[in-house]
Amino acid sequence: MGREYDVVILGGGTGGYVAAIRAAQLGLKTALVEKEMLGGTCLHKGCIPSKALLKSAEVYDLAKNQAAEFGVDTTDVSLDFSRVQERKNKIVSQLHQGVTGLMKKGKIDVFEGLGRMLGPSIFSPMPGTISVEMKNGEENEMLILKHLIIATGSRPKSLPGLEIDEVDVLSSDGALSMETLPKSIVIVGGGVIGIEWASMLHDFGVEVTVLEYADRIIPTEDEDISKEMKKLLSKKGITFVTSAKVLPETLVKESGSVTISAEVSGETKEYSAEKMLVSVGRQANVEGIGVENTEIEIVNGFIQTRPTFQTKEHHIYAIGDVIGGLQLAHVASHEGIAAVEHIAGLKNEPIDYKMISRCIYSSPEVSSVGITEQQAKEQGFNVSVGKFPFMAIGKSLVNGNSDGFVKIIADKETDDILGVHMIGSHVTELISEAGLAMVLDATPWEVASTIHPHPSLSEVMGEAALAVDGKAIHM
Ligand code: FAD
Repeated sequence: MGREYDVVILGGGTGGYVAAIRAAQLGLKTALVEKEMLGGTCLHKGCIPSKALLKSAEVYDLAKNQAAEFGVDTTDVSLDFSRVQERKNKIVSQLHQGVTGLMKKGKIDVFEGLGRMLGPSIFSPMPGTISVEMKNGEENEMLILKHLIIATGSRPKSLPGLEIDEVDVLSSDGALSMETLPKSIVIVGGGVIGIEWASMLHDFGVEVTVLEYADRIIPTEDEDISKEMKKLLSKKGITFVTSAKVLPETLVKESGSVTISAEVSGETKEYSAEKMLVSVGRQANVEGIGVENTEIEIVNGFIQTRPTFQTKEHHIYAIGDVIGGLQLAHVASHEGIAAVEHIAGLKNEPIDYKMISRCIYSSPEVSSVGITEQQAKEQGFNVSVGKFPFMAIGKSLVNGNSDGFVKIIADKETDDILGVHMIGSHVTELISEAGLAMVLDATPWEVASTIHPHPSLSEVMGEAALAVDGKAIHM
């Protein structure tokens, strides 16, 4: 016979494990099924390891190229990449232990194995009973449930015909575990992940070329941000080729080099490097989980849900990367909490995706919340824009990094803040003030009336808010 639960969660990534904790807090008998490692992509192949590598790259670049400016002599600085990887692995392992501890604390039953939904069966007349093929060779488990949350996440995708072998042609998964750095790399895709890797590898001393299909890098961000990012990273020495249609069939792998062609402005051009990184997006993990045994709908590869995260089978929910939209860890975890609270009968407002901050942890960093200036105009808003550069912020000069700016887009008629876009050092730490302002429906005047401490980078928000009405002080 199977074990019975109020809630079973399929997938122990950020979305899944946070949902499990919230379910346990609400007194629901909860089980979590994970086939690899608790923490999922974010902890093992995404947010945390990539940011640990980015931090090492920043420290190396600072010591090598900027320390002298601070009066610190760092002659003979060198990089020990094996220690960079060791540090990254230690951070991941510490956090993994933390998540494992939280599961124990919440008395959540964790099943280590591959889970799959059954159709109506002797265990339940409803589809969704989970059969778990246990990892350690133990007998399969059968989990009978009142509610299921699918949180199986996503994996890297490639271009049709471009095979990722994780030796010469890498995905972000393979790149994270490189033992040595290549001398050069071609990155296919100039979106968030591509730009983080481009910035990091460049700062580690790798020669980087980015091929982007769209006519600008990070095409989902405000145009001014894309332009500034391209300008600043090009100045550092990264080569960008935009409007580049990569031709997968031209891939040639020879010992120690990878060559691929791309159509650029009607011409076919060749790009060679020691390695290639493919960062063209992620596809949902919907295969092999038994969707065919249910009425769950999949469109364009993603599970379809209502604002409550219920699928067509109302007792089965889906959250996180597997449902598409903004594929971010904080989105997955908030969707997980919302799904569990709906199961528990709590009445919540649906998640407002316009209020979710998006960050890129390159150097410089990018962060944004709300819509871009272009989107605002397309949507018919009469906009006023306040822009303020870090160059005029004292703390930026003290920190030795005054590139970038903050841009606030407001609606001229209502004074609502429609979007805030930032590029510069530490902006991923500054964006939450903008997010809070939008959630609380603050006007630019109210943001500017918040007295920001001096000297601090946060002063840029006050100044950009004043700039919306042409009243910035230091410009
Ligand atoms: P996942 O984290 O992918 O977890 C899904 C889990 O389900 C996995 O552990 C998987 O093993 C398990 N699973 C799948 N199928 C089964 C099955 N049949 N049975 C049992 N278990 C199963 N987001 C940010 O917000 N900030 C960042 O800085 C950031 N950086 C990133 C950097 C990189 C390089 C990448 C690749 C991603 C990054 N992301 C970042 C995105 C973030 O990692 C994802 O949005 C987040 O992990 C999604 O969480 P999830 O729970 O939906 O899925």
